Amino acid sequence: MILTILPPNFSFDLSQLKLFRYFILDYIKYYIKKYLLIQQQHNNTSEKQEFISSDLTYEFYKLHLHIQKIYIIMQNQVVQKGISEIQKYSKALLGNKNYVSKKLAQDPDYFSKLAKGQSPKYLLIGCSDSRAPPNELTETDPGEIFIHRNIANVVNMTDLNLNCVVQYAVEHLKVHNIIIMGHTFCGGVKAAMNQDSVGGLLDLWLNNIKHVYEKNQHLVNQFQDENDRVACLSCLNVREQVLNMWKNPIVQKSWQNGHPVMIHGWLFRVETGFIEELQIDESIPENLSNVFRLQFKNAQQATQSQNQDDKDEKNVPPSNSEKYQQMQNKLENEFRKLSPDSQDSNQEPQKDVVSQISGLLQDDPNFKQENK
Ligand SMILES: [Zn+2]
Repeated sequence: MILTILPPNFSFDLSQLKLFRYFILDYIKYYIKKYLLIQQQHNNTSEKQEFISSDLTYEFYKLHLHIQKIYIIMQNQVVQKGISEIQKYSKALLGNKNYVSKKLAQDPDYFSKLAKGQSPKYLLIGCSDSRAPPNELTETDPGEIFIHRNIANVVNMTDLNLNCVVQYAVEHLKVHNIIIMGHTFCGGVKAAMNQDSVGGLLDLWLNNIKHVYEKNQHLVNQFQDENDRVACLSCLNVREQVLNMWKNPIVQKSWQNGHPVMIHGWLFRVETGFIEELQIDESIPENLSNVFRLQFKNAQQATQSQNQDDKDEKNVPPSNSEKYQQMQNKLENEFRKLSPDSQDSNQEPQKDVVSQISGLLQDDPNFKQENK
C-alpha cells in the first residue's frame, strides 16, 4: 500500500525520510484510533479484520522505530558534515582578520587610501576557477585590476553582466587594456570537449566553447594527451574571446572616440604558475571584418574634432594603429618588469603547446581567412 503511494523516484535522503516517517506515524495513529473505536463498539463482524489491522499497525510501528533510528544516524552525519563545513567557512573569515592586520602593519592608512576610489589599469576577464585568482597571480594590489569572471572566460556578445563591466571599465574607469585570461586544466573547456551533459544552463553556456572546438577540431585533436588538448582549446578559446571583444560596440566606439583599448590574450599555466602572453594576431578595429565594423556618428565627430585639435597642436595626428603600437610597447615593458624571466633566466615558462599552436595557427587557412 505504501509503495503504491510513494513517488516512483523515491529515495531515502534525509528530507524524504522525514516525510516518510510522518506518513508512517499518521498511518499508525489512524489505525489505533480505528481499532479503539471498533473495540468499543464490539462489532463481531469486523473483529477478524481489525486483528489483521492491528498486526499491520504493529509491523508499521516497528518500521517506524527502524526509520527513526536511520533518521537519527543520518541527521548526526549531516550535523557532523555541517560542523566540518562551518569550520572551513570560518577559516575564510579568520583569514580576513589576518589579512587586515598584515596590511595595517605595512601601512596604517592602507584601507583609508583604498576607500578614496579606484583607478585600475586593466580589465581582466578570467575563468571563475578558484585556482586562477588574477590579483594573486600578477602580484597586483586591490584597485589595480577590474575583474569579471565566468566559466571558461567567455566573452558572450549578449551577456548583460559582462557588457556592463566592459562599459563601466572603458567609459568610466578609462581602462586602456582588456585582458582575456584562460588557463590550463580548465574544467569548462574540458567539459565542452565532452559529449556528456553537465546540466541545461551549463550546456548552453559551454556551447560558446563548443563552437570554438567545432571550428578547430583539426588543431586540437593533433595532441595525444588530453591535458594538452584542453590547453590547446583554452588557447584557441582565449583567441576567440579576444576577437569577440574586438567586435564589441563599446570597444569599437571607444576607439572612434580616440580612446584606444587594447585587447590581450593570456594563458595561465596552473601546473607552473606562469602566465603566457598569447601572440594572437595584429588585430585592431581597423583590421576588423567590415561585417562587424560599426560607425558611430557622434564618435566620428568627436574623433574628427580631436584629430583637428591634434593637428593644431602637433601637426602629426597619431593613427589608431600608432596609438595601439605605443600602448602595446608600454604594456610589454610593464609586464617585462613583472615577468619571472627577467628575474631568473633558468626558469623559462613552458611554451611547448602555445608555440605549437601559434605555428599551427599561422599555417591554418581558416585563421588567415578570419583575420582578413
Ligand atoms: Zn576554467
